[in-house]
Amino acid sequence: MSKFNLVNDNECGWINQISKRINIKTLNEDLISDYLIIGAGYTGLSAARKLSEIDNSKKIIIIDAQLAGEGGSSRNSGYLVDTTLNDGFTSNKDLNNYKKKVKIYDLGIETVRRYVKEYQVDCDWNDSGKYFASSKIDDEYAAKSFSNLLTNLNFRNQILFKDELKKKLGTSFYNVAVYTNGGILLNPAKLARSMVDTLPSNVELYENTQLLNWKKSNNKIESQFSKNKIISNNIIFCTNGFLRTLNIKQNYSFPITLTASMTRPLNDNEFESIGSPQEWGVLPIRPMGATIRLTKDKRILIRNTAEIRNPNLMNEHDLKARVKLHILGIKKRFPNLPDNLIENSWSGVVCRSGNGSQIFEKLEKNIYVAGCYNGSGIGVGTFFGEQIALMASNQQTEEISIIEDRKKPNWLPPQPFLNIGIYTRLAYERYKARSET
Ligand SMILES: Cc1cc2nc3c(=O)[nH]c(=O)nc-3n(C[C@H](O)[C@H](O)[C@H](O)COP(=O)(O)OP(=O)(O)OC[C@H]3O[C@@H](n4cnc5c(N)ncnc54)[C@H](O)[C@@H]3O)c2cc1C
Repeated sequence: MSKFNLVNDNECGWINQISKRINIKTLNEDLISDYLIIGAGYTGLSAARKLSEIDNSKKIIIIDAQLAGEGGSSRNSGYLVDTTLNDGFTSNKDLNNYKKKVKIYDLGIETVRRYVKEYQVDCDWNDSGKYFASSKIDDEYAAKSFSNLLTNLNFRNQILFKDELKKKLGTSFYNVAVYTNGGILLNPAKLARSMVDTLPSNVELYENTQLLNWKKSNNKIESQFSKNKIISNNIIFCTNGFLRTLNIKQNYSFPITLTASMTRPLNDNEFESIGSPQEWGVLPIRPMGATIRLTKDKRILIRNTAEIRNPNLMNEHDLKARVKLHILGIKKRFPNLPDNLIENSWSGVVCRSGNGSQIFEKLEKNIYVAGCYNGSGIGVGTFFGEQIALMASNQQTEEISIIEDRKKPNWLPPQPFLNIGIYTRLAYERYKARSET
């Protein structure tokens, strides 16, 4: 297995707004356990919580190569989505598959909602809905087709044009949008942190501890870390964009690196100058356009790069080059705001499949995997984490049947053809969305 080097950057705006972690344990002895979970993002943390709920006499260990919850789960844009327009490389032409997909999103939202309520989590939850928007009036047709699809599926939605959008968003940049009432905006790092803080007492967490190798022998799984090993009865892989590096479902998913920036809070004058709008979130109509939010505390968040590269976190030099694009993206939308309000910039990794489908399966006896949600992991990851735990406890649920009925990820060609294909596709989408970044 290829060795990779996961190091947290300290620049994620969401993480910087919450307290620093204390009591961080790394693995420094050989252990045995009933369950070993690799990856402590939404998926792994939910799996651990559920396994404990199912049987709190079991020994459960969860391991992360960096700080728990501080990978993609804290670095994302905070849209808990009910619908998506550009999930995968194709538009959602197939109504039946789209229905299955939004059913999974719905179950994801309900899982997070239940968790947030049960543990009284403060994660700046806002049932604000979201906009799919474009600066190009030519995209009115795409907006209307999507709106019709949503209406057919009973999702409340509305088409809005430039002047209405200016009032709602405080920018004249957008010419057309579909507003969907469902979908929640939240602070992803607060949600991920709460999942770390509420881990049950029979779950042991080890951080800054990277799985290097694993093998099955005599019905047990032996997992090797830099100094120590863990022998477990079961293993659940929840490493999302890093599944390939562990040789898991190698030909079905690949990592994409994204970068984002967040400004300082706008001051009163700046906020008034854009019309003092309510918190909002915009997703692009054209794939590869910018995701942009005005947060509850009046910051602007922008994510407008997506690329294929080694999934290790990005070095400072490469990140700086992408920040220039974030600055331009904000300037295009808010030309009257000061030039560079950005306080934090960071990179993060999402996991994609060729057809936008997720991974959820028993690979062989006692070995399980869940992941690959592109931009819908807040809900789907939390939901899949719980359901993979149930599956690993030999339980069959209605939800597992719904998940298993989804379209499965398609087979991907080997390297170098895969990267050439992705690179070409992203370049094409980037060109088509050049006005929208
Ligand atoms: C910039 C950005 C914006 C996004 N926007 C959204 C959004 O608005 N809405 C949404 O729903 N989703 C969004 N996503 C996607 C979302 O963040 C992911 O789908 C979600 O975090 C997946 O959760 P996870 O637990 O499966 O994986 P992750 O959160 O990626 O966690 C996997 C963990 O595995 C660990 N790991 C990997 N390899 C090893 C190893 N060998 N040993 C030990 N540990 C290992 C990693 O350190 C990591 O912590 C975005 C992602 C990014 C990067």
